[in-house]
Amino acid sequence: MKSSLVIGNWKSNGSLSGNRVLLDAVASGVPAGVRCAVCVPYPYLAQVGEILEDSAIAFGSQDVSEYGYGAYTGEVNAEMLAEFGCRFVIVGHSERRSLFDESDETVARKAGAVLDANMVPVVCVGETLAQRDAGEVHSVLQQQLDALDTVRGASRLAGLVVAYEPVWAIGTGRTPTPEQVQDALGFVRAWFAARIDDADAVDVLYGGSVKAGNAAELFALPDSDGGLIGGASLVADEFVAICAAA
Ligand code: PGA
Repeated sequence: MKSSLVIGNWKSNGSLSGNRVLLDAVASGVPAGVRCAVCVPYPYLAQVGEILEDSAIAFGSQDVSEYGYGAYTGEVNAEMLAEFGCRFVIVGHSERRSLFDESDETVARKAGAVLDANMVPVVCVGETLAQRDAGEVHSVLQQQLDALDTVRGASRLAGLVVAYEPVWAIGTGRTPTPEQVQDALGFVRAWFAARIDDADAVDVLYGGSVKAGNAAELFALPDSDGGLIGGASLVADEFVAICAAA
């Protein structure tokens, strides 16, 4: 059985001095054999790459431009991220979808740019509370996932990681029940199974208020391959404990 994958999402947090303290503790504390990564703000990529150079912990960014090199002021393209040693790139986080108006199609193009640069897109999907209350979880996931189909084509879907993150569980301390999480993870798995031979090889993660106290239960769900961790990834002891539960 493959080991779980735990990815930290620092969001817009960090400092040169704080990053070193956090990562030294994480690098020495995460048990061997756990697949672990941190996704950090762009300016810290070089520093984080240097700190983690001799560790088994991978790193990446939290966004990417859908464009390549050229006249795109302010954008950071996938080739640049690859050059800095990124393995993972989060795309379509709900904060980007809601605060920066990213559409499913934009997210899919970004995922494609990441694949083209030989990195792993971590595509975030998930419903709002209003959508859950309206019974729309599956249709929301279907629409978000289908966009990947139309832009990328089935042949490259096996290279994706998908993180199911219900919007109402992010940073709120609220988590869905294990049954609700498994239902969504199973839906994502089935979407892949309808398109590629080895859907079990795709990493399907859960994210949203994962803590040391609930990680083991969430990671043990049949279709869980690990987690995407926000707030708790900024606290070394907590993040290490989550990785230890993986
Ligand atoms: P949270 O965030 O763990 O702080 O809820 C998860 C995320 O936004 O990826």
